[in-house]
Amino acid sequence: MAYTLLLRNCAQLLTLAGAPAHRPLAGENQGNWRLLPDAYVACVEDRIVALGPMSELDETLVTPATTVLDAAGRVVMPGLVECHTHLVFGGNRAQEFQRKLQGETYLDILASGGGILSTVRATRAASSEQLLDQALHHLLGFRQYGVTTLEAKSGYGLDAETELRLLEVAQEAGRRQPVRVVPTFLGAHVPGPEYRGRPTEYLQMLVQEVLPNLHPQDVPFVDIFCEEGAFSVSETRRYLEQAQALGFRLKIHAEQLHDLGGCEMAAELGAVSIDHADYLTPAGAARVARVSGGNTVAVLLPLVPLFLRQERYAPGRAFIDAGLPVALSTDFNPGSCPSKNLWLALSVACLKMGLTPAEAVAAVTLNAAWAIGQQQQCGSLEPGKRADILLLHVPSLEEIPYWLGENPVQQVIIGGQLQPA
Ligand SMILES: [Zn+2]
Repeated sequence: MAYTLLLRNCAQLLTLAGAPAHRPLAGENQGNWRLLPDAYVACVEDRIVALGPMSELDETLVTPATTVLDAAGRVVMPGLVECHTHLVFGGNRAQEFQRKLQGETYLDILASGGGILSTVRATRAASSEQLLDQALHHLLGFRQYGVTTLEAKSGYGLDAETELRLLEVAQEAGRRQPVRVVPTFLGAHVPGPEYRGRPTEYLQMLVQEVLPNLHPQDVPFVDIFCEEGAFSVSETRRYLEQAQALGFRLKIHAEQLHDLGGCEMAAELGAVSIDHADYLTPAGAARVARVSGGNTVAVLLPLVPLFLRQERYAPGRAFIDAGLPVALSTDFNPGSCPSKNLWLALSVACLKMGLTPAEAVAAVTLNAAWAIGQQQQCGSLEPGKRADILLLHVPSLEEIPYWLGENPVQQVIIGGQLQPA
């Protein structure tokens, strides 16, 4: 069948393919995927159908109807997968940024009724239309950075009605523009203000009033913030077990500020990802890799300690060496990371977590897809996968993390469609 889209003369085609396909890239495989020099990738409609060295391109399938992009001298790679965002929220927290610059910590601000609770007030007060407009604005920004699939958490409503509304807004945002949106229920972000000091009752309310109104086909993941000031390990375990019994897959925010053991607990339950993990030790990482059979992905968020002015970053190098698959994300949210620049997160992961450029690229593509259950659709360039492809304006993999803070994207393709700049 004639190609509808062809990218030819790719100086480097970063396929991310080549390792065993039945689990996330771990250990040596995280950086050892297949890079093809002087290559092409061809699509029919929304699917990739062929790729390989230019010498093997079947020119008979290139017709006047084929859209041809000449990638001479440049890198072509899969669309970015942004696997951890708090996309839908009202207002912003620029004021608190000032307080942070003057030395207050995240927990100081939370204790004084600021932090997340100020976003909760702004979110509850916003109409669904306002929240949708703001979410679409952010999605456009993500798309310009080359993000083609994005996870979006609720978690700024903290009551049943608003939490359900936030998930509807996230789903509607996915329908209104080309970036694929995968919603996650994070009602268990912190106890709602009406449940101050009563975290167990708050979780019970979520189990009784929200989870029965969600379907795992629409909202596949349930997430929780396991941390001092949020939910304890035992509260978290009970909640995740209840969510799992209803058919949801599990995620956790854990070991962000303290080593409480949340990551290991969630891995034992088969969580698809453990997120933050700044305080997870290399020994803990090895146990997570073992109990999960290499299926739980550590989603590391290097822009968060940067923005919170913390010294401690997750030891990503040690995690990879311990066999734990690593993904990277911005954690885009109004409090601890207002950045949509996943390329900057990738560079900071190389600088502060010890990832190589090849490992970091895997962490924002294939392993990120695994972290949100999208690995059969996206994350690598392989025949049969959706044609989510980026043409960069850099000539090599090594230059991706090098141009710190720059957006290397020249052309975004989603489902075989060229996106406007
Ligand atoms: Zn988060």
